[in-house]
Amino acid sequence: MSDTPVPAAPSSAAAPKSMDAIMALCKRRGFVFQASDIYGGINGFWDYGPLGAQLKKNLRDAWWQDMVMNPAWGRKGPGGERVRCVPLETCIIQHPKVWEASGHLAGFADPMRKCPGCGHFVRADQYWDTIAQWSEWFNSLLQEYEPSVEGTQHPRINAERLFKWARGKGKRAAPNLALVRTPEVVLSFVAERIASQPASPPDLKEMTQYFGTAQPGATGLQQPCPRCGAPLGEPAPFKLMFETYAGLTQSEDNRVYLRPETAQGVFLHFKNVVDSTRVRVPFGIGNTGRSFRNEITPRNLTYRSREFEQAELEFFCHPDESMAWYTFWRDFRMDWWKSLGLAGENLILREHAKDELSHYSMGTSDVEYRFPFTAPGFGELEGIAHRGCYDLTQHQTHSKVKLDYFDTTRGETLPNGGKKGERYMPHCIEPAAGLDRGALALICEGYTVDPSRPSPEILKLHPRVAPIKAAVFPLMDKDGMPEVAEKLTDDLFAKFGKSGFIESDAKQSIGKRYARMDEAGCPFCFTIDGDTLKDQTVTVRDRDTGKQERIGIDKVSGYLGERLG
Ligand code: ATP
Repeated sequence: MSDTPVPAAPSSAAAPKSMDAIMALCKRRGFVFQASDIYGGINGFWDYGPLGAQLKKNLRDAWWQDMVMNPAWGRKGPGGERVRCVPLETCIIQHPKVWEASGHLAGFADPMRKCPGCGHFVRADQYWDTIAQWSEWFNSLLQEYEPSVEGTQHPRINAERLFKWARGKGKRAAPNLALVRTPEVVLSFVAERIASQPASPPDLKEMTQYFGTAQPGATGLQQPCPRCGAPLGEPAPFKLMFETYAGLTQSEDNRVYLRPETAQGVFLHFKNVVDSTRVRVPFGIGNTGRSFRNEITPRNLTYRSREFEQAELEFFCHPDESMAWYTFWRDFRMDWWKSLGLAGENLILREHAKDELSHYSMGTSDVEYRFPFTAPGFGELEGIAHRGCYDLTQHQTHSKVKLDYFDTTRGETLPNGGKKGERYMPHCIEPAAGLDRGALALICEGYTVDPSRPSPEILKLHPRVAPIKAAVFPLMDKDGMPEVAEKLTDDLFAKFGKSGFIESDAKQSIGKRYARMDEAGCPFCFTIDGDTLKDQTVTVRDRDTGKQERIGIDKVSGYLGERLG
């Protein structure tokens, strides 16, 4: 699914949250900063601030715990077996032949079109998605229907809106579009077109002809640049892999690539893992780490960046059991994202249609989230792919090292009760998640504006991933309250500090302190006040409801333990 807005489909979903407000909060509270910020930033690269770094670590740790250490929360596999997985950590740079074998060198190139006018690049296969940014205008133009003479419904053009848009937003966004420079000419063409075929209003592709070109008076027949309106050049392949050199000379022989995915490192060590551990098929190997893609149009904060982090599991199984394992992982991954707070109509599992599948894949599903910038559509968070035996076979062919597997639990039963064994190339199920997209989805989902609260912006992060686990506030910076607060902070830090901060703050009004914690996603605040000194109780404030209750100070640790998950 592409991350551009799709032409509006009727939706019952709530109005999208403001991405600008979310980005502002991310910067204000130290979740995400633009990389090289003080030099003006670098397109497609993002750094995480103190809270973002901890949020992402908690997400990575949750993945590691639930996919590698205690896979699938201890659920039994399709045959009732315990699910076994082990970790691996592989290099960003591998032998260049790896990418030849994996198909990335030949296939990992997007067709791209350059605008001769402004130098902007557009992915040829995403052209219509990109141009769909005009769809808001386009749809509003054609949305109002009126009955035609024949009694059918046909669209009426809202000329006033067109002119207003052309003078304002359109002029700022794409001053050279014919639509902006000569809206009256475009309007008459569209009107003519609708009048001649009232039953089938022009679609976005057809409309695009009316959007270009730069000449005054022309309606344009070429596909215009979505940024400036000049006709785009022909598609040319563009390599998505970053290249560099390993060694003293910058020669062809020394050319290497930054990995575009973490999965390939796993396939290279399939045999080493089998030989060095006691895992037997079926089992999985998990690998997390940075991947790099020279994306043509990085955008939407960390959603599509050029350096990002993946968490991938390659699960190897017998071909006959592969579809059952595919279903198992697909369902578990959906449940996993739900468990972190992405639920309801913002999260969907989309099974790929047959014609979307790679030639070797018997099934692929995407877990998709409705980000504010994709709404009403969805953007991919994770892909779960049945990759058949494609990768192991490719590496076996290119490396000439045998990577098949001898399974001693299969084959005919021998007179001694043992099995004859069976040699086969395992099939692989790959749940491939993006940690940056995951963290962004958690932030977008948690971001809530509640005008009834004194400080209306709240980040309702799931306690398991929240970077600040709790805050302890002395109501006043005197009368022994700071000392009690400090002791409680120390106790909580000793118990819960492994997965997040325990904040302690005595400055400003209590309301301001609560507000800061709400924006930082801290689920619970404990306040020490005058009564604490008398009856050993504290106030607990719940971030999501704003409700307060009193509990004994000796119960705080248990209270938090139960809720942090
Ligand atoms: P897309 O179609 O959005 O480019 P993809 O299908 O190429 O994604 P995969 O190769 O399946 O993505 O990678 C697995 C996961 O890695 C994705 O689901 C996503 O979460 C993450 N990912 C891929 N590309 C990027 C990127 N440029 N920036 C951030 N995360 C990414």
